Amino acid sequence: MGKRVLLIAATTGYQVREFSDAAKDIGVELVFATDRCHVLENPWGDAAVPVRFEDPAAGIESLVGFGPFDGIVAVGDGPSLIAAQIAERFGLPFSSPDAVRASKNKFLARGRFRDAGLPVPNYWLVPIDSHLEEAAVLTRYPCVLKPLELSASRGVIRANDAVEFVAAFERIRKIAPRTDSLLVEDFIPGREFALEGLVTRGRLQTLALFDKPDPLDGPFFEETIYSTPSREPADVQEAILAAAERAVTALGLTQGPVHAEMRVDDSNVWMLEVAARPIGGLCSRVLRFDQKKSLEEVILRHALGEDVFDIRLSAGAHGVMMIPIPCAGTYTGVSGIEQARAVPGIEAIVITAKTGQTMLPLPEGASYLGFIFARSHLEGNQRYPKQPEVIVQDALRVAHSTLKFHLSSVLPVVR
Ligand code: ADP
Repeated sequence: MGKRVLLIAATTGYQVREFSDAAKDIGVELVFATDRCHVLENPWGDAAVPVRFEDPAAGIESLVGFGPFDGIVAVGDGPSLIAAQIAERFGLPFSSPDAVRASKNKFLARGRFRDAGLPVPNYWLVPIDSHLEEAAVLTRYPCVLKPLELSASRGVIRANDAVEFVAAFERIRKIAPRTDSLLVEDFIPGREFALEGLVTRGRLQTLALFDKPDPLDGPFFEETIYSTPSREPADVQEAILAAAERAVTALGLTQGPVHAEMRVDDSNVWMLEVAARPIGGLCSRVLRFDQKKSLEEVILRHALGEDVFDIRLSAGAHGVMMIPIPCAGTYTGVSGIEQARAVPGIEAIVITAKTGQTMLPLPEGASYLGFIFARSHLEGNQRYPKQPEVIVQDALRVAHSTLKFHLSSVLPVVR
């Protein structure tokens, strides 16, 4: 009988379809479980298994009839915890619920990093009903305020003084109305990186280290360009990989894909987080491995216990730009796409915004207008001294500057 992998996801986005294609390519049967069957189209023509993520015990038992499974994969931040609980129930390789819970909660994660001796900024919890002026006086600046369990930088705001602290706190309260407290921590200056990896029996294998070449200094922290391989010197890259491995161990993550973020200054690697899931949405498309394998194929093979230790990114440089939303508005279209696609090095431009959709920038919003992908196989030489990573980053910037997004303002016009 063929192998069967259980895929836990909250939406049938691009990534679920990509897993479905990869599974077909390698002859694996996917069983799709979600808590949103009623609102989703059916990506395989097969019924998805309903699991109530808020009532995991009942949901998990309902899966018994759909087994046996040979592996499990979770897509997105929400489903990783229930995936861990399902894995525990069915004896499938995955990190423990305790480890995944810690990775999802920024306060718990900070505590584990600190206990493991990793550098952590000063951090503390401020209850949501605190006397804000008092909390603001007790705070050191600049600081960063954040909700404990949101992702994609939603609700993460830098404050440089007490007035900004109070304004940021009140703003986040509206973004995360059910939260009990906010995490406040020292602002960490430095360059930022992201690491995509696989954990196997507690060991971290790095699939890609991404530079984030655009400065992320706040007040909001919108992601733009990711490019890999990193241009950092070998010793800095080694320090990043070592810190990421220690963070994985500190959280107790033992099995499955991870996406980690960190900042580096002159003396330290500061871990921001390690999420027990792969890089989100369309971004995974930036990663192409030898023999044109996709990240999803590599993750499925890994989930089935296959040895993927010698998997390598294909040669050259790879980059993606998550196209930020410049201002709140209703998306009505984009021009300049053809010119942007013609920029050398640009591989694809995917606009994910839908006409008529209301787009909100950070810190309230949680999406992008679309994605630009670039690749370069050129090697720098004397006639053409640019490195492929630079070519990719330049191509992304030029293509982005060529695009003109039309957003009709939703804000009242002040006369
Ligand atoms: P999320 O899980 O929502 O992405 P993070 O805690 O990773 O939340 O923060 C999002 C972004 O905010 C980070 O990628 C980083 O750019 C910035 N950030 C978060 N905390 C700090 C900090 N203490 N100092 C500087 N920048 C920070």
